[in-house]
Amino acid sequence: MSDDPLEMVERLTEYVDELAEARSQNKPGAIKGRTQLILNVLEKLREAHSTSPLSLGLIDRIQKEKKRAALELPETSGNYQSICWDCYKTRGIKVLLDKRVDSVCRTCGWVQCPECGACRDPKFGGCPDRSFKVKGKIS
Ligand SMILES: [Zn+2]
Ligand SMILES: [Zn+2]
Repeated sequence: MSDDPLEMVERLTEYVDELAEARSQNKPGAIKGRTQLILNVLEKLREAHSTSPLSLGLIDRIQKEKKRAALELPETSGNYQSICWDCYKTRGIKVLLDKRVDSVCRTCGWVQCPECGACRDPKFGGCPDRSFKVKGKIS
């Protein structure tokens, strides 16, 4: 995958289109997958922008796409979707959690992160049954 900002924005547009389609077909797995891809590409664009500022035209396109995708982004939809607190805290990565797609811990009732196995945040009491997952590859 290329890290050229223009190509990233094109990918973003594709993902948002696919997200809209997944949403219209009511497919939670696809919705989550696309939302995750959108978050990742937005993150990369943010990085690219901090290294060398993107053109106003590109920024404008990014804002438009964000607006189009906004309905399913975790910042705006509280209920069934959120971000793994542990992946975010330890690795700075936003891993989407979605009750409709990911497994739920039987002990604490929180959705388990597919990446690291985290469930209830220690801020809320933690969970004795967290299943730690250790990933070999850390980018
Ligand atoms: Zn996690
Ligand atoms: Zn748990």
